[in-house]
Amino acid sequence: MTAKSMMPYVEGNSAIRAMFEEGARLAAMYGKENVYDFSLGNPSVPAPPEVNQSIMDILNTEDPLLVHGYNQSNSGYEDVRQTVAEHLNKLHGTAFTAKNIVMTVGAASGLNVAIKTLVDPGDEILAFAPYFVEYGNYAANHGAVLRAVPADTVTFQPNLEAMADMISAKTRAVIINSPNNPTGVVYSAETLRNLAKLLGEKQAEFGTDIYIISDEPYRELAYDGVDVPYVTKFYNNTVVGYSWSKSLSLPGERIGYLVFPSEMADFENAIQAANIANRVLGYVNAPTLIQRVVARCIDCSADVDAYDRNRKALYNGLVDAGYECTYPEGAFYLFVKSPMDDDVAFCAKAKEHNILIVPGKSFACPGFVRIAYCVSYDTIVNSIPAFKELMEEIKNE
Ligand code: PLP
Repeated sequence: MTAKSMMPYVEGNSAIRAMFEEGARLAAMYGKENVYDFSLGNPSVPAPPEVNQSIMDILNTEDPLLVHGYNQSNSGYEDVRQTVAEHLNKLHGTAFTAKNIVMTVGAASGLNVAIKTLVDPGDEILAFAPYFVEYGNYAANHGAVLRAVPADTVTFQPNLEAMADMISAKTRAVIINSPNNPTGVVYSAETLRNLAKLLGEKQAEFGTDIYIISDEPYRELAYDGVDVPYVTKFYNNTVVGYSWSKSLSLPGERIGYLVFPSEMADFENAIQAANIANRVLGYVNAPTLIQRVVARCIDCSADVDAYDRNRKALYNGLVDAGYECTYPEGAFYLFVKSPMDDDVAFCAKAKEHNILIVPGKSFACPGFVRIAYCVSYDTIVNSIPAFKELMEEIKNE
C-alpha cells in the first residue's frame, strides 16, 4: 500500500493535473493561440546560444571520464565551484572560494540540502507569505514545521513586525526569496538590514543560531537597474541557494549551487554536512556535464528584455482594465488583487475566459492571484481584451 503520508500529495497533484488537462482541453477547443495559459513559471526565452556551443565544445574537447563520471567530491567539481566563487566575488565584493560552494540539482535540491544541513526534526522554519508552495513540502521532508508569516499586502516586503512574535527557541531558519515568486517584489537593503538586526537580537535572546536560507533563482531577472542586495553581506548565518533554471532558462537540466559563507556559525561542520546531505538525499552530485557548461557560461544571461516587455504590457493592460497590481521589480510574475473575495472562484471564472492563473491561496496569500508572464508577447497582448471582459462581467454581477 502507498504510504499514507503521501496521499495528501497525490490528492493535491490531481488538482494540478486537472489544470494541465483543462489547458489542453481549452486549446483543442479554441486553438492554442486563444488560450492564455499563465499558470507555470517555465521560462519562455530560450537559453543563450553559448549553452549549446559549450555542450558541444565540452563533448569534443574534455575527457569523457571526467565529463560523465562521479565527482570526487559530492559538492561538485572543484574548478567549477572556484569559478562560481570568483564570479560572486567579482559581482558582490565577497571573498568566497570553492570551499564555500556546493553544486546542487537546481534550487529545489539546494533547499532540501540546506534544510537537512541546518534544521532538525521538530524545528521550525519561517517563510514570509506569499511564498513558493514547495517550501512547506521541503520542510516536511525533514520533519521540520513551516510557519507562514502573514503578508504585508501593501508593500509585500517581509512583515518583520509579524515575524518578531513568531520567533522562538524552536526557530532554526527563515526562508526568504527575492526577487519574489509570486509578487515580483525585490527586498530592499533596508529590509534586509532590519531582518538581520531582528534575527541577531533573537539569536542573543534564545542563545540559538537562526539561519537565513535565501532562495534566489530569479536574482538576474531584475528590471530598471534595481539593486538585488547580496544577503551574506547583511547577516553571517546566511545560506544562499541559486539556480540557473530561470536565469539561463535551464530548468530541465537541474543545476544550481549553495553558498555557505565561512563566517557562519559552525561553518566547518555545516559545509561537510551539506556535502553529505547531497549524497544521502540521493542527489549524489549535481549533473556533471551541465556543471561544466554553467562554468563556461558564468557571464551569460537570458534575454531579460523580453520579460521586461511582457511585464510592462501586462501591468499597463491590467491596470487600464481596472485591476489592482503590485508593480513587479523582478522575476516574471505579476501578483494581482482578486476582484472577487474568493481568489479560487475568481480563477475559475477567469478560466471561462480561457485565462489560466493561480490563486494566491496556493502561496498562503488568499485574496490575490499570480500571473506568470513568461509567455510569448502575443499571448500577453491578445489576453488583455479577455481580462477586460472578465472585469466587466464581475462588475456587472
Ligand atoms: N524557488 C522558487 C521561488 C521557485 O519559483 C522555483 C521554481 O519555480 C524553485 C525554487 C525551484 O527551482 P529549480 O527549478 O531550480 O529547482
